[in-house]
Amino acid sequence: MVRGTSKAAPVRAIIRPLNLAMHEVEVVLTLPPGAAAEGAVLALPAWTPGSYLVRDYARFLDRLAVRDEQGRALAADKLDKQRWRLPAARGPLTVTYRLFCNDLTVRTNHVDATHAHLVGAATFLYLEGQGQRPVTVAFEGWPADWRVASALPQSGGTWLAADHDTLVDSPFELGTFRNHAFRTGGCAFEVAVTGPHPGDEARIVAGTRAIVEVCAKLFGGFPFKRYAFLLTFSPGNRGGLEHRDCTSLLADPLELDRPEGYWDLFLLIAHEFFHVWNVKRMRDPVLGPFDYQRENPTRLLWFHEGCTSFMQYGLVLHAGVAPWSWVARKLAASWADNVQRAGRLEQSLEEASFDAWIRHYKPTEFSANSTVSYYDKGAMVAWMMDAELRLASGGRQGLPDLFRLLWDRHGDGPVTDADLRKAFQALSGRDPAPFWDAYIQGRAELDAGPIARAYGLAMTLRAPWETLPEAEAADPEALRRARAYAGLTLGQPSPAIRNVAPGGPAARAGLGYGMEILAVDGYRTASAQEVQRRLGDGGPGATLPVLAAHLGRVATYRVTLAEDPTRTVQVALEPAPGPAQRAARAAWLGPALPNPRRGSRR
Ligand SMILES: [Zn+2]
Repeated sequence: MVRGTSKAAPVRAIIRPLNLAMHEVEVVLTLPPGAAAEGAVLALPAWTPGSYLVRDYARFLDRLAVRDEQGRALAADKLDKQRWRLPAARGPLTVTYRLFCNDLTVRTNHVDATHAHLVGAATFLYLEGQGQRPVTVAFEGWPADWRVASALPQSGGTWLAADHDTLVDSPFELGTFRNHAFRTGGCAFEVAVTGPHPGDEARIVAGTRAIVEVCAKLFGGFPFKRYAFLLTFSPGNRGGLEHRDCTSLLADPLELDRPEGYWDLFLLIAHEFFHVWNVKRMRDPVLGPFDYQRENPTRLLWFHEGCTSFMQYGLVLHAGVAPWSWVARKLAASWADNVQRAGRLEQSLEEASFDAWIRHYKPTEFSANSTVSYYDKGAMVAWMMDAELRLASGGRQGLPDLFRLLWDRHGDGPVTDADLRKAFQALSGRDPAPFWDAYIQGRAELDAGPIARAYGLAMTLRAPWETLPEAEAADPEALRRARAYAGLTLGQPSPAIRNVAPGGPAARAGLGYGMEILAVDGYRTASAQEVQRRLGDGGPGATLPVLAAHLGRVATYRVTLAEDPTRTVQVALEPAPGPAQRAARAAWLGPALPNPRRGSRR
């Protein structure tokens, strides 16, 4: 849906490179006559929507200067970390400032000699109380062969944002990116690809098209006329940030050496594109319009992010761009993590959502023991929710139908927890309270039962000694090592302690975060692998001296090993599904549905 353009005179922004190698750009804002007639406050957002962390973008802004129509310098009064009061001026004012742009993520500015990725929140000062004013953006002085990709409409080299919210929601990519375009469902799509990679770009574009078409089928079309994927390849990077009419994506080029790299990229694309509906349009009222100056906590990230993180699997399966065998492994690994993470006993999904700003986005050594991820646990609870809806409908209806119902009811507008409960009740015919009490507001253990019944799917838990290769399983020493457990997570390759399982052998011995293990049972240990090996030699029940350094002092801790309680999970479809289970599988897995007689395709 296109937002109406305000009649107010626009702010004009010009962005120039100052020094590409030094990652510096200059922004020149021209405020129209009247904008500061009685004085006005210019502010820079502290954060960007979709990434729930106060980033204090103003720390990258300096050399702020204000001039009147005659070019006379005027004083601006800095009010706090990110706001400036302008002097009263009847005529236009010019505001100039420098930005340092050297953080290549989807939520920060990055400018160098190869490209520029500019995030609205980190780039554009706005006039407080005048957010409805349109903003035009032009680029001057950039390399002659660079182009600009943006979801904003453009005319004669000037991009137009209807208001400040739209500007913040519309990142710019500048450079010599390769532009791919396709049309489907009456909408124009662009895929701007930056950076070298060894992969098949045509395959990436075709897969992207298949994913957007699955979404259009689910929601009955697209809520825009134009959409842009801004995809940048950079080694070691992965990330995505959703916007209403575009998404910024970062991917590791080396991952495209393997089929899994494509599958994972498609999962990311599906995730961000699903946000077109879930969070960018249907959203907690807190999530737009935003207060850019401070945290905007919501209790619904388990829905906006967790449910999206489950839906992404169905989207890639229906699009035929990733195999079920891989999805089954991903789901199994996530289930195993979430049913064993110590933090599951400490924090609910709703609490994890609300505290995203200070917990998920500010992780510490303590995180695994004190928090859950609203992404990962949210996806597992979404899976259970899908299963509950399938069980109530003979397999026909699930989470996709819940999203369609919400879209039909709420469209581009606020959705509350009460709305979600009502939709769940409408589809399942059941009181939503017990499910919410247990898994969303509460900390109940995840239950694989409904999932198993809904799809005819077996989740098998296996101990470490049950997954040994055949030769090792026959060796009593190897078995003993596999059974030994200290409850320690070590950094790689340094044997520093990254985590200690609460109540586990290492914790009972007094070992803690950050200690460096020097020796086990009298043997020098120089790597995490050596520590695990020496601890394993003792086997369950053995007590071994562990020499560890902490804050410059060395001490011996006596660790009594236990039997390893950790489990891996395997997910497999049962060979003889009933009719409701067949219907549930067909709806969830689509064309990726394995032939039941052959088992899952590998
Ligand atoms: Zn997301």
